[in-house]
Amino acid sequence: MVTVDIEKCVGCGECEDVCTFGAISVVDEKAVVDQDSCTLCGACVEACPEEALEMSRDDAGLSDSAVSLDAWRGVWVVAEIRNGRYAPVTFELLGKARQLADDLDTDLTAVLMGADVSRHAPELVHRGADRVLVADCPELEAFVDEACAKVLAWLAKEEKPEIILSGATAMGRAFIPQVATMLETGLTADCTGLEISPDGRDLLQTRPAFGGNLLATIICDTRRPQMSTVRPHVLKALEPDSSRTGEIKEVKPPEDLLQGRVKVMESVIEESEGPLLSDSEIVLTAGRGMENEKNISMLEALAHCMDAGLGATRAVTEAGWLPGRFQIGQTGVTVSPKLYMGFGVSGAIQHLVGMQGSDIIVAINKDPDAPIFDVATYGIVADVKEILPVLTKRICQERGIDNV
Ligand SMILES: Cc1cc2nc3c(=O)[nH]c(=O)nc-3n(C[C@H](O)[C@H](O)[C@H](O)COP(=O)(O)OP(=O)(O)OC[C@H]3O[C@@H](n4cnc5c(N)ncnc54)[C@H](O)[C@@H]3O)c2cc1C
Repeated sequence: MVTVDIEKCVGCGECEDVCTFGAISVVDEKAVVDQDSCTLCGACVEACPEEALEMSRDDAGLSDSAVSLDAWRGVWVVAEIRNGRYAPVTFELLGKARQLADDLDTDLTAVLMGADVSRHAPELVHRGADRVLVADCPELEAFVDEACAKVLAWLAKEEKPEIILSGATAMGRAFIPQVATMLETGLTADCTGLEISPDGRDLLQTRPAFGGNLLATIICDTRRPQMSTVRPHVLKALEPDSSRTGEIKEVKPPEDLLQGRVKVMESVIEESEGPLLSDSEIVLTAGRGMENEKNISMLEALAHCMDAGLGATRAVTEAGWLPGRFQIGQTGVTVSPKLYMGFGVSGAIQHLVGMQGSDIIVAINKDPDAPIFDVATYGIVADVKEILPVLTKRICQERGIDNV
């Protein structure tokens, strides 16, 4: 904790200015520390010109999260909800977390934060949770990372889960690292695989590393909770089971945790044409083998016939043949459609991590040794320019659709 030597403190406010967590303020010309908000970053101690601040950690340098690993039990999933709808990754995380909790012989808890969200809690039980902790507060109507981080960290300190999982979405990426800092524990971002170690309770967190050229498995064996974010569409959700029952518990976060420095003035929902690529059941992907921008129209014609979404490799988006939002892979979106078809895609690892969860993979490439054939369910060795018009004509005929 950070303590103030009242004799030395002159109330200059230097500490208040450098504290980005709002954990220190000057009251009656003396610094006052809010220990709950303090993350022990030490910025105030360094900034104090009077050396009036001192930082000490419990248990010879170990925080609460490292004192006793056995005190931390249970698996948590942070539910993501906006406008009354869950982000699909919430159900995907619950599916995996159910397996992890069963392996650990412990409970699975979903944490639901927002305004007017309580009525959506049972759906989380239907999707695998044993228990739902609901922080239903008007202050949480608009997403503000600071408030969500403080509420989740407060709950975790109270209840001590051993694992916390969240989506690697814009929201998860914004506030989960803050929670890990507040809890003084590790966080593995963008995981693609999660398992429990066979010889204990450590979470094996797998994610691409070194530009996706290898998969690293990371453990956090001296701290709790173990925290991971997982990309959407990597894990499989369980089918909803409305006969499942569980505990739904309302929690009331302290008022000061809900107050922050950010006020949301307006939210604007971006209009987009057609379904999201990540939601498409069929994805047709253009690779550099499409050869030029003009040839992309051949793929668009097939996508029209098949009611498919269009994807691209980075080679294609970098060439400007399709916009960046079409990019699939490590630095693009992750897809797991029923059918993925790659046209002139070589199968680089950075691309594979974004599509290898697809049910059926069809690869069309003129090089029989292209690595994409190693992951393909069906492979066609052919020139895309020859096969695309034939495929489009045949599929349009079968489906009774005009070929555009
Ligand atoms: C840090 C990092 C992040 C990255 N992130 C991503 C990412 O998110 N997504 C991504 O896709 N890539 C990513 N990349 C790039 C990746 O490494 C590859 O360079 C890229 O995926 C290659 O795209 P491609 O398969 O279209 O092109 P190429 O590798 O050039 O392959 C083209 C293929 O087309 C075939 N071909 C050529 N002409 C024809 C034809 N007429 N008919 C049929 N086949 C033909 C060739 O045989 C070849 O196999 C990343 C790279 C790095 C370093």
